[in-house]
Amino acid sequence: MTTAAIPSVGLVGWRGMVGSVLMQRMQDEGDFANINPVFFSTSNAGGDAPTLAGAAAGAAGKLEDAFDVETLAKLPVIVTAQGGDYTKRVHGELRSRGWNGLWIDAASTLRMNDDSIIVLDPINRDVIDAGLSGGVKDFIGGNCTVSCMLMGLGGLFKNGLVEWGTSMTYQAASGGGARHMRELLGQFGTLNAEVSTELDDPASAILEIDRKVLAHQRTNIDATQFGVPLAGSLIPWIDADLGNGQSKEEWKAGVETNKILGTSAEDRVIMDGLCIRIGAMRSHSQALTLKLREDLSVAEIEKLLDADNEWATVVPNTKEASMAELTPVAASGTLDIPVGRIRKLEMGPEYISAFTVGDQLLWGAAEPLRRMLNIVTGTL
Ligand code: NAP
Repeated sequence: MTTAAIPSVGLVGWRGMVGSVLMQRMQDEGDFANINPVFFSTSNAGGDAPTLAGAAAGAAGKLEDAFDVETLAKLPVIVTAQGGDYTKRVHGELRSRGWNGLWIDAASTLRMNDDSIIVLDPINRDVIDAGLSGGVKDFIGGNCTVSCMLMGLGGLFKNGLVEWGTSMTYQAASGGGARHMRELLGQFGTLNAEVSTELDDPASAILEIDRKVLAHQRTNIDATQFGVPLAGSLIPWIDADLGNGQSKEEWKAGVETNKILGTSAEDRVIMDGLCIRIGAMRSHSQALTLKLREDLSVAEIEKLLDADNEWATVVPNTKEASMAELTPVAASGTLDIPVGRIRKLEMGPEYISAFTVGDQLLWGAAEPLRRMLNIVTGTL
């Protein structure tokens, strides 16, 4: 594609959790000036397309049917944040009809295919550029925790300094999508309502409050989306059960990290850990144990992390700074990836801890897709 031509870009899944953050970022950055957007819907074809700042007046028109493969096939670029079921249903059919356009996708379906690239350009721009010149057509956003980890700790991973690591995650409700976020807030609301009289009375017994909350969590709470209560609890399993004791979310840490970095079999970084859902609204956190290949001082490590990209921000390992700057509340809605709690562990001089938190809807989902589209239009 020449940089002079303004391409028509199909946008699918634009009103979901990831899609709406993507639309917001594209408006904020003026990306609609570089494309002719064509909006699709799986549920409201023929309805009005959204009017977005920066999109040419009247460009949006009506919503197209996201399952109409003929209309999709006319487009040189399709960006989708609709989800894996949609990708499974439409992508293969488009390709089997000979569609040769670029497919940019937030879902995991195509991520590990040999002919796809996982996009995270501050970490793997070289891999993306080589793929584009080599004729790769499928560019897929990475798993949210993996992308946020690599953005925060790119200075160690890109320099080949990590031998192995464990990532223990604390993932927000929004990782499940728009309906999951609503359910969490609904659960907090009903828990509060259940004991509001007792809460208003400072003399009421805390054990009675606790008993009523627990009874409500165990019998009466709406957990349609998550399957079990999340408010006032946690869920120690995310995504499918692979049958070997590992969840699919946990499996992604190792395979996607290495695919993004483009490591060879000899350089392969071993990554594994447990993925846990917690009652944060937005932003995934993770506690890391890393075995480094060299005995670097904490100051050297911090310098490497800070220097790697403009978004990784080292937080001093103090109580005050950690509590103020290293939380989902601090990170949500920003592109910064704070990294803190960096210290040498008792296991030996090459073992370090780190804690990082990142808005998974930005660097973990929307931002790499938006930037990939800009690479395609020649504006990044
Ligand atoms: P989502 O919020 O559930 O949105 C997906 C689609 O659901 C929308 O495009 C919309 O399609 C439909 N929908 C139905 N009811 C809706 C409602 N009340 N509000 C908004 N949309 C509604 O899913 P998502 O979290 O954005 O995830 C999309 C893809 O990105 C998935 O493959 C996911 O695995 C991946 N991803 C998600 C995250 C994350 O943190 N959430 C991070 C990285 C990757 P129609 O408009 O066509 O009806």
